[in-house]
Amino acid sequence: MGKHTEVLNNSGKKQYFYPNRMGRVVLLGMEEILGHGGINAVLNLADLSVYINDYPPYNQDLKFPFTHISHLQAGLESAYGPRAGRGLALRVGRACLKYGLREFGSELGLTDLAFRLMPLQTKLTTGSEAFAALFNNYTDQQVSLERDEKYIIWHIQRCPLCWERQADGPCCHLAVGLLQEALFWVSGGKYFEVEEKKCIACGDSACTILMNRTPMS
Ligand SMILES: [Zn+2]
Repeated sequence: MGKHTEVLNNSGKKQYFYPNRMGRVVLLGMEEILGHGGINAVLNLADLSVYINDYPPYNQDLKFPFTHISHLQAGLESAYGPRAGRGLALRVGRACLKYGLREFGSELGLTDLAFRLMPLQTKLTTGSEAFAALFNNYTDQQVSLERDEKYIIWHIQRCPLCWERQADGPCCHLAVGLLQEALFWVSGGKYFEVEEKKCIACGDSACTILMNRTPMS
């Protein structure tokens, strides 16, 4: 689905990208949660000091490599330890939604009154489809959706968060935080249980995140 000329890395493997403005959204979300010193420490650990005080521009160019996204997540874990790093990644994911809506809100088309007035389950279906389409249409990330009576199931077939990583357990925490916050926003303020069950970093064929369709309270 890449909308750019094919880019190969040194070993001849195809590279995948987020648009610059989505890389920017991730860095802004990180800075909000970690503070200026925190994000600079993570950028140094991730070998991405090139972004210190110099975030990618607000444009649609597919120039922010998947490797940078996964290195940011790994840098977060090495800076704060796996446990605290996980909690922080969830919070960063939530914070990213705010900046993401600022950037991509109009493309999502979920802000009009007609959407606000839909029943909850219709909102969850329409909303999750719009979010998946955003990734599929504007980034190299590939998402597909399934639904059963209990869950909306979000499969990331090509995932920047764990790109080229290996892990003992699912590690795409930023996506979990982002989806939690997206459901909160789409539902007009309800909390939903969201959990990553499978992860490419653990050898699975996709990163699979379950979103419970019933709010927690
Ligand atoms: Zn993943």
